[in-house]
Amino acid sequence: MLSLSGKVAIVTGASRGIGAAIAKELAANGAKVVVNYATSEGPAREVVDQITGQGGEAICIRGDVSLYDHAEVLVRAAKETFGRIDILVNNAGITRDRTLRKMQAEHWGEVIEVNLNSVYNCTSAVLPHMLEQGTGGSIISISSIIGQAGGFGQTNYAAAKAGIIGFTKSAALELARNNITVNAICPGFIATDMLSEVPAEVREKIRAKIPLGRFGGSEEVARTVLFLAVDGQYITGQCLNINGGLYM
Ligand code: NAP
Repeated sequence: MLSLSGKVAIVTGASRGIGAAIAKELAANGAKVVVNYATSEGPAREVVDQITGQGGEAICIRGDVSLYDHAEVLVRAAKETFGRIDILVNNAGITRDRTLRKMQAEHWGEVIEVNLNSVYNCTSAVLPHMLEQGTGGSIISISSIIGQAGGFGQTNYAAAKAGIIGFTKSAALELARNNITVNAICPGFIATDMLSEVPAEVREKIRAKIPLGRFGGSEEVARTVLFLAVDGQYITGQCLNINGGLYM
């Protein structure tokens, strides 16, 4: 019997990077997983194929989680397919980095919508199902070190990721009575497509400042999600830092 047998998880933005690693880790430990994506259908299907190829259960569902209607459709499809929802991982995220002087309202808005509004949209859509089930639940959102320490050229992203931390603490207070835990993870710099967008010389300067001397791996973030989902029953309203010591 695997530790997440009988549980159902939705992972937003799971076609690649950290989300794909989370989906695979939860599935490898027995959860039935809904792999959400916005545009990358091929990679999302590959994630599902990898999971089912290892004997797990997964489906992929397209949906732009920055839109409330899409989040509702995603959650409804998960419920119809697997019958319940126990774990929500709010992972979908984007960057549109530029300094404040060059940032236009659309760059600001897009990042807030995809990184922060999506957390409200999906949590709000999942909640009635978790409450009706009456067996608690686990809501885990991927914030960032940038939401704690700030980032040059990242006012939009830092505001969204700091917003997730405030959301997490408030929702944790509200939902504790229903045994629903709400936590955030603040990764430092993790080797994914998102980090590849940072120019190589800037990346090297960042790496040189990390006490553990390397970027993190998506699987390392995924294992932290697994820990919260499996053994985190008395952990709520927290931000778990997984950053190689870059921010303490
Ligand atoms: P990534 O490789 O760029 O992948 C982003 C994922 O989000 C993709 O699956 C993408 O799907 C999905 N996505 C984007 N917009 C979406 C939307 N509107 N609706 C649904 N899905 C959407 O990013 P990553 O590095 O794995 O980052 C994952 C999360 O960790 C993000 O929240 C990011 O901010 C956070 N994070 C990353 C790092 C890092 O260093 N990499 C550090 C701290 C925090 P499509 O391909 O279909 O668009």
